[in-house]
Amino acid sequence: MGNAERAGRSLYIFDLDGTLAEKWKATILLGVVECLNRVEGEIAVATNQAGVGWHAVEGEPYPRPDEVGRRLVEVADAVPRLKRALWLVAIGDDRVSLPPGRWRVLADAVTRAAAPLDVRTSGDPAWRKPRPGMLLEACRAFDVSREKTVFIGDREEDAQAAEAADVGFVRADQFFGRG
Ligand SMILES: [Mg+2]
Repeated sequence: MGNAERAGRSLYIFDLDGTLAEKWKATILLGVVECLNRVEGEIAVATNQAGVGWHAVEGEPYPRPDEVGRRLVEVADAVPRLKRALWLVAIGDDRVSLPPGRWRVLADAVTRAAAPLDVRTSGDPAWRKPRPGMLLEACRAFDVSREKTVFIGDREEDAQAAEAADVGFVRADQFFGRG
């Protein structure tokens, strides 16, 4: 792809819980399937799933890594456009203390359970929204500039992550016409 084409591409990054689907479920929210079919540009999902780390220290009711991974596949099965998306999953949380090796094992378990989706999972706290790590990773992965990138989310931490990454932000209800 030449520079001119690359300059024209856009990147849409979506939060998952409360934006695309109900929290911890594969129930797709209103307007998502139709809107994503109309999106012209690259698509990524950036989701905090610290429940994985909490499960490692506290067990129930937090989800296991394989449950989190399989849920991503269920969501993608319900929203075909998401099968070709880049999925970024932040399992790290400053409040959860685990050795680095343990985070890697948990991250690998999420990614493995989410096959065949293109999933990158990290325990790096810099990925956890409101920090900008996942959004910057998505821009890098698609080689799309921040000016051509927008993040769609439902919470203040999403807006803060977008600001920290210096990308645009749109409220999910507005983007999906759920007003
Ligand atoms: Mg959310």
